Amino acid sequence: MRYYLMTLGCQMNLSDGERVHTVLKEMGGREVQHDSQADIVGIIACSVRQKAIDKVYNQIARWNKEKNHRTLITFISGCILPEDRERFLKLFDLVLPMSEVLSLPEMIRSSGIVTPASLMFPGQEKGIPVNKQIFSLWNIRPDYQSNFEAFVPIQNGCNKFCTFCAVPYTRGREVSRPSEEILEQIRELIDRDFKSITLLGQNVNSYGLDKPGKKISFAKLLRMVGDLAGKAGKENWIYYTSPHPRDMNEEVFDVMAAYPNLAGQVHLPMQSGDDKILVRMNRNHSMDRYRELVRSIRQKLPGATLFTDIITGFTGETDEQHMNTMRAMKEFRFNMAYIAQYSPRPGAASYRWEDSVPKELKKERFHQLNEILEKTASEHNRDQIGQVVRVLVTGPDRKTGYMKGLTEGKTNVRFPTGPAGKTGAFADVRISSSNGMSLEGKLMPVKIESLALDG
Ligand code: SF4
Repeated sequence: MRYYLMTLGCQMNLSDGERVHTVLKEMGGREVQHDSQADIVGIIACSVRQKAIDKVYNQIARWNKEKNHRTLITFISGCILPEDRERFLKLFDLVLPMSEVLSLPEMIRSSGIVTPASLMFPGQEKGIPVNKQIFSLWNIRPDYQSNFEAFVPIQNGCNKFCTFCAVPYTRGREVSRPSEEILEQIRELIDRDFKSITLLGQNVNSYGLDKPGKKISFAKLLRMVGDLAGKAGKENWIYYTSPHPRDMNEEVFDVMAAYPNLAGQVHLPMQSGDDKILVRMNRNHSMDRYRELVRSIRQKLPGATLFTDIITGFTGETDEQHMNTMRAMKEFRFNMAYIAQYSPRPGAASYRWEDSVPKELKKERFHQLNEILEKTASEHNRDQIGQVVRVLVTGPDRKTGYMKGLTEGKTNVRFPTGPAGKTGAFADVRISSSNGMSLEGKLMPVKIESLALDG
């Protein structure tokens, strides 16, 4: 049985997709690189942007045409809005929530689709039940798509209901994964020498809030992770994304400062620098609170980089409110900001509101914010010139003869290929220049530390 899986959207989907790969492989599936070679085709959907939803509709229309001349089983899972689910039920053979992905083999069998022998998974024809020991998606062993970088889900869903976002409707309410499972997965990744591990969730720092009475806070979980990584004594960087400013507290930064494996990078979505817009977005925190958090990060984690998300041109945003976002960007001097021009997202509350800021104005504001980002990021990067920085090599660069990698703070670095710069390994690079948002340098020779030369 050959399968093709298309994963759309964020890192959370990527992580879920790795578990779907496992289920399909346990069915006896073999992944193929092109859908035309597959017997089963599936999509892990994303409903955050209309573009991603359109992609699903285009894809399924094509697959349904192909069904006229060959057997093809189609399924969809992931982030699906209720209204799309109704339509998908008519278009796909199988529509299932991610939490039910373990039932996929059984669903194929009971769907009434004629499955030729080549499409059956081992044991199906004998009616052997699919392995039901693992009930939870989180318990499925992921089929990691990298051998040095991995994502560990710690929490799923969202209770925040930001007015521009549909996630609470597609992924449901916040649920925390048991800490023992998280620690077990991290232990295994460290044993297997993974270098970059990211704790994942829609609101990672709301971890434990859904378990009143026996809750482990996010800071406590982070401390346990730091302890575990410290005892293992290996070099790796452990990240988390994304936290929400509303549930963030200073204890998290204390823990990060105390454990060297907890990477010095904080991604703290700001979305807007204006209090009134934050209220309209239902973010439930003020700019004063955001400012306090940034102050605390700078004080407790002086070497850490600061990333953010910003939406420009949110419905009703005035020039003055946009100026407040510009001021905030200048004040906080982000290393990186993912700036999006507002577009109504189906399923979100603001989808029903007038998209009142004209396209051209959004574009203009977007450029103004990007200019500030480029300025602050390049100032940070210029400070690195002449320094030797530790880099996790992530692969060949687009420029021939060069490799690329990321610093602990996730700044892009490129350098000429050399024996020390292997993909998935750490290397030291002396920075020679800064190209705005990224750095360039030369590999340092490998240190041979424990060689005893004197006799
Ligand atoms: S916190 Fe807001 S932006 Fe983030 S997933 Fe929840 S609703 Fe969406």
